[in-house]
Amino acid sequence: MEVNQQSDWVARSLKSVWHPCTQMQHHETVPLIPVSHGRGVWLYDHQGKRYLDAISSWWVNLFGHANPRINAALREQLDLLEHAMLAGFTHEPVIQLSERLAALTQHQLGHAFYASDGASAVEIALKMSFHSWRNRGQGEKQEFVCLKGSYHGETIGALAVTDVALFKDAYGPLLRATQTVMSPDARQALAGESAADVARRAAADVERMFTERAGKIAAIIIEPLVQCATGMAMHDPLYLKLVRELCDQHGVHLILDEIAVGCGRTGTFFACEQAGIWPDFLCLSKGISGGYLPLSIVLSRDEIYQAFYDADVTRGFLHSHSYTGNPLACRAALATLDIFAEDQVLEANKARSRKLTDALAPLAQHERVSNFRNRGMIWAFDAVNAAPGFSRRFFTEGTRQELLLRPIGNTVYLMPPYILSDEEIEGLAARTLSVFEKTVD
Ligand SMILES: *Cc1c(COP(=O)(O)O)cnc(C)c1O
Repeated sequence: MEVNQQSDWVARSLKSVWHPCTQMQHHETVPLIPVSHGRGVWLYDHQGKRYLDAISSWWVNLFGHANPRINAALREQLDLLEHAMLAGFTHEPVIQLSERLAALTQHQLGHAFYASDGASAVEIALKMSFHSWRNRGQGEKQEFVCLKGSYHGETIGALAVTDVALFKDAYGPLLRATQTVMSPDARQALAGESAADVARRAAADVERMFTERAGKIAAIIIEPLVQCATGMAMHDPLYLKLVRELCDQHGVHLILDEIAVGCGRTGTFFACEQAGIWPDFLCLSKGISGGYLPLSIVLSRDEIYQAFYDADVTRGFLHSHSYTGNPLACRAALATLDIFAEDQVLEANKARSRKLTDALAPLAQHERVSNFRNRGMIWAFDAVNAAPGFSRRFFTEGTRQELLLRPIGNTVYLMPPYILSDEEIEGLAARTLSVFEKTVD
């Protein structure tokens, strides 16, 4: 009976739901898993089989599924206000969230603009950067610079500053031209070179670009510390410091896309804190609502805000989304920030991170593994000479062993929620090793 129900959901989903980031025909061989419910790090299907959500459901879930504290906050908010428009009106959750985020940036980024998904946050940052230059009489600054292997979302504007061929190539004719500079990916270190040396080399490429055409460039956009979607490419914080200096020297805005790396993922609340810098725009989404509701935010400096502040309506930032500043999503974010503070999560994650790194030692030393790397609550390694189709094979075998992991090409990565118990850490490492050995060939 349960089995039938499970296969019934699969058949109905494949008939009527167009799944994201999926060649639907692959589901003729790759399983589709109907999720019945979630608890903590586990997702359960209709047969009661469980899956350890080791990628936080696409990097959004921080404190587990059906988290009692976030659930309670949302129930309370539901009885007060589900939604109200944010033009001409305001409400307590959006005010509190904006104030708390400003405080987390030491009041460097004190103006919060809201949207619902990451790509929209990126669009907002790009538009704001261009428009603020225009309001200051520098409307010729219209270009954006992105990094090799960058990922900033898949709407037309965000895709233009994305450099992942799989997502971008088909849409080339629709996209604005962008300037691309070298990635600071530490895996490119030549013999004798350190990660900091690669960072310096990559910053020199930015300097070349700025020297040549800063007069035309509005902003450079960077995923700080880890370029996630390209395959968890990690770099030295020095890179961010050097680029910040170059932006100041050449009059170019720095947009940091912390959609994936923010909210404690790299060890500090914001990744850029590890470089001791602040950007002109910071994009947040994914984890900020604890993985509950679509919410994204662009934080910006006062100087940017002031460029729009005027009696003339057209000098204002006229961008909007229907659900801008949704109170439920903001309440989920406030509950998430409460958990960070009450449980001293950043501190607790240090021990958690060490434990999982230790537990993964057999993989780090595995002869078929290269570039084992970790920053905060992100782990990644590259499979050496994996047989073709590795990623899908790994995912499928993972689901058989209670593990939800989706490698990016030959890069296996772990981005688990911040609530793994010691037993779950051991279980996660053991399953990852077992699935890897079974699928690398
Ligand atoms: C996921 C992601 C985005 C896009 O966010 P969506 O909510 O999927 O639109 C943008 N930038 C980075 C770095 C991301 O990881």
